Amino acid sequence: QLLERASYALSAHNARQLPADIGSEVAFAGRSNAGKSSALNALTRRNALARVSKTPGRTQQLVFFQVTPEAHLVDLPGYGYAKVPQDLQAHWQAFIDSYFRTRDALKGLVVVMDIRHPLKEYDRQMLSYAVQRGLPAHALLTKADKLGRGQQMQTLAKVKKELASAFGDSVSVQCFSGESKQGVDEARLVIGGWLGL
Ligand code: GDP
Repeated sequence: QLLERASYALSAHNARQLPADIGSEVAFAGRSNAGKSSALNALTRRNALARVSKTPGRTQQLVFFQVTPEAHLVDLPGYGYAKVPQDLQAHWQAFIDSYFRTRDALKGLVVVMDIRHPLKEYDRQMLSYAVQRGLPAHALLTKADKLGRGQQMQTLAKVKKELASAFGDSVSVQCFSGESKQGVDEARLVIGGWLGL
């Protein structure tokens, strides 16, 4: 499984620091504490890979992990971190916005959501960035281990329906758990497909 080759490449806090816009990359977004780092770790089987993204000072950067020289995973900053000054927030908004609008290498977006609190404002905004660009998105309803199977399926069906009505068929969704590794293979298939692995 090629995702297991992922290793830290670089961090960018503005457009000039982005690596060359070539090859394929998949971006990961999620509200802080949703379980994005744990999901990245489970997908790459690199425990602590995404810890680097949480290093103070890096929480406001795009963190690139290289899978192959032509394939990257990009950890977008978790939303809702320690109060960010207003002007920095504006800088961020602009950076993320232009990244989504102009980045050729970007092939898809993964949005990580706590299965108990899906589709919050930020999640919807990230999904619409992708969909507006014509990019596919995939939602991980993580921490599925916190719910029984019945509740998982119920939430999955509800979220599926909401996504279809808001975004048509460009957004897919699945249950996931960084803890029990439920759904890892399914997510890897989607991401690997986008990266051309
Ligand atoms: P991030 O801020 O989105 O990167 O979230 P983290 O991956 O750091 O996870 C936030 C908290 O949720 C941590 O205490 C994790 O141990 C916990 N967590 C993350 N994923 C799971 C999961 O799949 N199941 C359970 N039970 N807890 C999880």
